[in-house]
Amino acid sequence: MIREMYLRLGIPERAIERAERAQRRIAPVFERIEAIRELNQLRVLEAMRHARVSESAFGGSTGYGYDDRGREALESAYAEVFGTEAALVRPQIAAGTQAIAMCLFGVLRPGDLLLSVTGKPYDTLDSVISPSQGGLAGSLADFGVRYAQIELRDDGSLDLEAVVLALGTRPAMLYVQKSRGYAGRRSLRTREIGALVSRLRAAGSSAVVLVDNCYGEFVETEEPGSVGADLMAGSLIKNPGGGLCPTGGYVAGRRALVERAASRLTAPGIGSHIGPTLGLSRLMAQGFYLAPHIVAECLKGAAFAAAYFEDGGLVADPGPFEERGDIIQTLTLGDEKAMVRFCRAVQSMSPVDSFVSPEPWDMPGYADPVVMAAGTFIQGASLELSADGPVRPPYRVFLQGGLVYEQVKAAVMLAAPV
Ligand SMILES: *Cc1c(COP(=O)(O)O)cnc(C)c1O
Repeated sequence: MIREMYLRLGIPERAIERAERAQRRIAPVFERIEAIRELNQLRVLEAMRHARVSESAFGGSTGYGYDDRGREALESAYAEVFGTEAALVRPQIAAGTQAIAMCLFGVLRPGDLLLSVTGKPYDTLDSVISPSQGGLAGSLADFGVRYAQIELRDDGSLDLEAVVLALGTRPAMLYVQKSRGYAGRRSLRTREIGALVSRLRAAGSSAVVLVDNCYGEFVETEEPGSVGADLMAGSLIKNPGGGLCPTGGYVAGRRALVERAASRLTAPGIGSHIGPTLGLSRLMAQGFYLAPHIVAECLKGAAFAAAYFEDGGLVADPGPFEERGDIIQTLTLGDEKAMVRFCRAVQSMSPVDSFVSPEPWDMPGYADPVVMAAGTFIQGASLELSADGPVRPPYRVFLQGGLVYEQVKAAVMLAAPV
């Protein structure tokens, strides 16, 4: 029956056999993913019980949003799960970049030094950090915040020696990007972030450690907050939104720092005290509840894609058995035609906009044309299956997300060269 169904979806016999082989090979990886999921799911359940999340508070608030019990309960559950004192979880934070920018502008002051210890931050942070034309955009540099970066070592690990040396320049904040983003580097594990914090404190530095946690949530059993990070930020149309959250972002960390970030979202003096939930409370809570489960689906999909590619003699990074710190899988297609064909096939195996055919286009801010497949319920939601990348050698696609493993599996079977 399943074989017939695959054939009907246009997947050739050879791909079905290859998929069976790949899936058998990664059975132990699935077991590991399920063990992580179980622990994370129980942690979320426990936190929601502690926070007394209540159906009667899902109606939410309007206007200023004072005394929104649903919002307060969810923020308390986030803080518990992420191992932090406080959290701000708001639909008014419309992107991960916004959540991160709130942390940067909330904490840093003119003359301060921001030190990235994971090389160049994610592309959308460029204009947040660097000087703008005529200073009109009001970037960090426009306000006199200085910036420096330390590259990751060749094996993708943090260069702790270089970080300790750089403490002589008295950075006010250390910036850590957990996920590989759209770069060739690997993701960091939470324990590596923990080791960084310990090293820092041992060296007597009280610099604020900010973690860009986008794509990292629930991939491991610990979050950066539990290993000493001072502040972390992410997007609700990625992991912690569980695929249900239609918009939103979060900041979690030490209470005073979260409040400073909140002052950039609203205004100094008002901070976290206003913020209507506009009827979104139920989806935000429900999405958070489902997040460990959905992230596990993504991870299974990514491991399958890696194994399937390897089985066909193609390059996948990370490999199927490698430990992961985010949900991103890169797959090397080798030439433009194969790359575009791959993205078109992924798009066609989507529940939404399956009839659309992606074309490479000149996306603002990118040197090369970019091709993107995203048949998603929520615009730009990359916890849903999406595949994209700049059309240039080595013609590498970034595959991430998948609300259900079955879709990722079928998409890869249809899309990968046989
Ligand atoms: C997605 C992402 C961001 C922010 O993205 P938005 O599109 O603004 O939500 C920042 N850093 C990393 C590593 C990301 O993956």
